Amino acid sequence: MYRPIHYGYIEVIIGPMYSGKSEELIRRLKRAKIAKQTVVAFKPYIDNRYSNKDVVSHSGISIDAVPIKSAKDIYNYIDEDTQVVGIDEVQFFEEEVVDIAMDLADKGIKVIAAGLDMDFKGEPFGPTPKLLAVAEFVDKLQAVCMVCGNPAHRTQRLINGKPAKYNDPIILVGATESYEARCRKCHVIIK
Ligand code: ADP
Ligand code: ZN
Repeated sequence: MYRPIHYGYIEVIIGPMYSGKSEELIRRLKRAKIAKQTVVAFKPYIDNRYSNKDVVSHSGISIDAVPIKSAKDIYNYIDEDTQVVGIDEVQFFEEEVVDIAMDLADKGIKVIAAGLDMDFKGEPFGPTPKLLAVAEFVDKLQAVCMVCGNPAHRTQRLINGKPAKYNDPIILVGATESYEARCRKCHVIIK
């Protein structure tokens, strides 16, 4: 969230798919722009769900974002005027994104990162756990469980409409893959 304090820090927004992480990131970045702060948003190059140059939420709201292959590329797009850096889908970056977020915050930049804290197995996802450990502020969002309607903190992976197996490959040729938000009780992993 936008806080009018004049030093760098790290905010992390986590939760399962559909919990509103992108929406919340976009909201915070738009508020920073209203406060006339210089904002640059980034996302991993692989995530071209809806658009290559925007962070877009499942509900359709968006903000301009630079697609980057590596977190180091952030340095190519910021300068001494940059006050806020947004990062979406932070789980897809290498572990070095944590050091880079720390470095930016140390330099006085507000870093707002959003991403999945767990993969579809319910296990910590990439650099996100480390990032939230070093962040000043963390918000864990809940989606709505698609089975029972309770708050959902996990992401269910479905292959051809059935719960994925623990060891199913990340890419399954010829299969229809989908994801939905589920609560602890309704989340299924077949071992
Ligand atoms: P995230 O970045 O966490 O994947 P988004 O910000 O892209 O989430 O999308 C959030 C939006 O997704 C909600 O505002 C709502 O319109 C929609 N949505 C679809 N399915 C669900 C669900 N199961 N729970 C909550 N919101 C959902
Ligand atoms: Zn449920």
